[in-house]
Amino acid sequence: MLKELLSRWPLIQQIRTGADGTGAEVLTERSRNLRPKNHDAEVSRSVCPYCAVGCGQLAFHKNGKLISIEGDPASPISRGHLCPKGSDTFELHTHSKRLTKVKYRRPYSRQWEELDLESAMDMVADRLWESRNRTFEETRDGEVVMHTTAVGHLGGATLDNEENYLIKKLFTAGLGLVCVSNQARI
Ligand code: SF4
Repeated sequence: MLKELLSRWPLIQQIRTGADGTGAEVLTERSRNLRPKNHDAEVSRSVCPYCAVGCGQLAFHKNGKLISIEGDPASPISRGHLCPKGSDTFELHTHSKRLTKVKYRRPYSRQWEELDLESAMDMVADRLWESRNRTFEETRDGEVVMHTTAVGHLGGATLDNEENYLIKKLFTAGLGLVCVSNQARI
């Protein structure tokens, strides 16, 4: 019994086979049967949401549950690498303290209250429309300007071409905003 146990000990196997300790000789029964956490998971390609580099990500999921997010080796941008922020994307989705409700603090209030997303979006739209109408200038110093400088829009780095096109069209051509920019320019 002891002899058999010793013979399975990785160190003994390494000495016996003369191997360098990087191959099968160092596997125990347990480590031989270990599988990566994303074993058998489905994978979807994605892009890191944090900055303008746009590193490629692989999102592993199983039965509708996210298992892990890792760098995509096929990405010509990042070739499988993610910086510490990108590597933490998994927790961006799964952390227990992630906020999943809109928080709103009324003027002069010390309390946060929760709003449903639809109400919050309506409030944003109402405020945007009110500010735009209140500050819109048709002329300035005798020149036709048809704009407002009181409201700006800052887009995120992972907005795609089509989304940026629509944002520019809505906010500049539609509402007359001058300040329309994007984090990707930073
Ligand atoms: S992994 Fe880092 S460098 Fe790459 S897009 Fe995300 S935040 Fe930017």
